[in-house]
Amino acid sequence: MSTRVWTLSVEQRESLIEAAFEAKQKAYNRYSKFAVGAALMAADGTIFKGANIENASYGGTICAERTAIVKAVPLQSEGTTSFIALAVVTDVPSTISPCGMCRQVIREFCALDMPILLVPGDYPKPPGDESEGKPGITAGGVKGDQHRRAAP
Ligand SMILES: [Zn+2]
Repeated sequence: MSTRVWTLSVEQRESLIEAAFEAKQKAYNRYSKFAVGAALMAADGTIFKGANIENASYGGTICAERTAIVKAVPLQSEGTTSFIALAVVTDVPSTISPCGMCRQVIREFCALDMPILLVPGDYPKPPGDESEGKPGITAGGVKGDQHRRAAP
């Protein structure tokens, strides 16, 4: 059994979070008014941005995470483990996890232990914020990075 340690550099982490915020501005969210941004980083550092794209037929709505993955996958030639991190942000101050359908798509194209940064809408939270020190919470109130898990 080997253990892979996913470590984003400070610059990669900040770039990815910034890209998720930028992506959120492109949300097509006329029905819910709930904007979501996602940014997926490939191993070569390329960042693919996605926003939620809603539809009057709710089932036609595509989440930000899947938008980013669908943009990225046709351009990747290294297979399904060529992504190194995903960041997701909304407008609310709590962190929001991907929905079940997105989790299934993430599972299809990303390594099981790839970091998924759940970014609070008011990132970066100031030192002393109530989230500080809670399990899984890292700098700025982000949840999910510095995730370590044994690979099969
Ligand atoms: Zn989703």
